[in-house]
Amino acid sequence: MAAGVDTFHAGQVAPRPLGRKLTQDLDCEVCVVGAGFAGLWTARALARRGFEVVVIEAARVGSGATGRNAGFVGPGYAERLDGLIARVGLDHARELWALSRQGVELVRAAVHGGRIAGTEPVGGHLMVRRTDEERAAHREADRLRRQFGTPVDVWRARDVRGVLRSPHYFQALYFPEAFHINPLALAFGLAEELERAGVRIFEETEALRADLNGVRKHVATSGGRVRAKHVVLASGVPTGRVWPAVARGVIPVSTFIGVTEPLGEKLDAAVQFPGAVSDLRRAGHYFRRIAGDRLLFGTGITTRRSVPGGLAGTLALEIGDIFPDLAGANIEHAWAGTMAYAVHRMPQIGQIKPGVWLAAAFGGHGLNTTAIAGELVASGIADADERWKLFAPFGVVRIGGPLGRIGVQASYWHMRLKDRMEERKARNAAAVRAPARGEPAT
Ligand SMILES: Cc1cc2nc3c(=O)[nH]c(=O)nc-3n(C[C@H](O)[C@H](O)[C@H](O)COP(=O)(O)OP(=O)(O)OC[C@H]3O[C@@H](n4cnc5c(N)ncnc54)[C@H](O)[C@@H]3O)c2cc1C
Repeated sequence: MAAGVDTFHAGQVAPRPLGRKLTQDLDCEVCVVGAGFAGLWTARALARRGFEVVVIEAARVGSGATGRNAGFVGPGYAERLDGLIARVGLDHARELWALSRQGVELVRAAVHGGRIAGTEPVGGHLMVRRTDEERAAHREADRLRRQFGTPVDVWRARDVRGVLRSPHYFQALYFPEAFHINPLALAFGLAEELERAGVRIFEETEALRADLNGVRKHVATSGGRVRAKHVVLASGVPTGRVWPAVARGVIPVSTFIGVTEPLGEKLDAAVQFPGAVSDLRRAGHYFRRIAGDRLLFGTGITTRRSVPGGLAGTLALEIGDIFPDLAGANIEHAWAGTMAYAVHRMPQIGQIKPGVWLAAAFGGHGLNTTAIAGELVASGIADADERWKLFAPFGVVRIGGPLGRIGVQASYWHMRLKDRMEERKARNAAAVRAPARGEPAT
């Protein structure tokens, strides 16, 4: 297992030796704080523009959400399209959406053709409905195609159940441009590329204090100070108290993943689709085949940070509920990961004061959005490109400490209840319709 990341992914990649720690003061043009995807993509985009970059990471490269996620790369943001349009209007939402698709293409260009070892990209993403609403699926697909230029197909319930043997699923939207990867392999690959380009990455080097007011900014760690003209805060859920205003603008939200034992033909019977799958619940399930005949299965959203007792058993029960053929499958690996969410569920990207840049709050949709954040921040620094201002409506909004967290948790519970009530209603309606069509009720 690659040191620093206790996931199934870590066992699938060559371990990355511990990088150096910062032990002296140094000067550079840009100091990036955090070596998750946001920091790595930003450093890469800056290095490609000729900047002298230093990255400091409190723990290890990819040890945050970056190395622990499901690896789905697809267009969009954590905020849904309806919310985005309601907030900024259709034209602005279209520009933001186009950026999110560019993020997908950046990741594709980095990983395809085996450019980064171990990423193992597999194409396609099915977004399945847990309610029987074919018309709604077509409406959504039309909107994505016509207004957002995104290729998408509608799969009928029968086709979905042909590749996912679950009574819970109805129609799906199929995104051919999306794919899934081993995210830790990508993080390690990006870090290697940075080091080859002369970027210095310091691990186990936490930013403890910062003076971000002067022309030359200072970031202090226990081993030395980094002095830089620009500082990029790409610290996910920031550790310590070094950026209190930024930390108050995000809420840590955890989600959980399990990987089953090898399942052989049992898995072929239940899940034939090789790509990524997620359902449309607000805090739903997401899964994919992994390492041949295992299932990676993720679920849950909570503001609690610790791994719940019995996580593997809970995940196994959820898998058995969705796929009766997989009841009793053992979970061999289970882990939690913590993402940073802003109250508006959109990333915070841009300059927050002269020379101080933020790339944060990517929530559960960070693989494409961190890549585009890196480009926007780098071109902002290098060329005074102001495209990052498209994210200006989604600034740092104070969430409000423990009370804010309780509020967020309560709203997830409320959404979960709503999802379940709507699904029950849809199932009852389908049970009434099915005999009329001569079909078995589900
Ligand atoms: C279980 C799970 C599944 C997910 N699945 C998907 C998915 O399938 N597709 C998708 O698009 N997104 C997914 N996400 C979300 C995605 O992983 C995140 O949005 C993305 O990784 C965020 O990257 P980041 O660089 O902002 O944060 P992180 O990866 O958390 O990196 C931040 C880094 O900053 C460091 N840091 C913090 N404070 C300091 C400090 N003071 N000094 C120095 N360093 C510091 C941390 O140690 C950390 O390494 C998932 C997330 C989780 C947890």
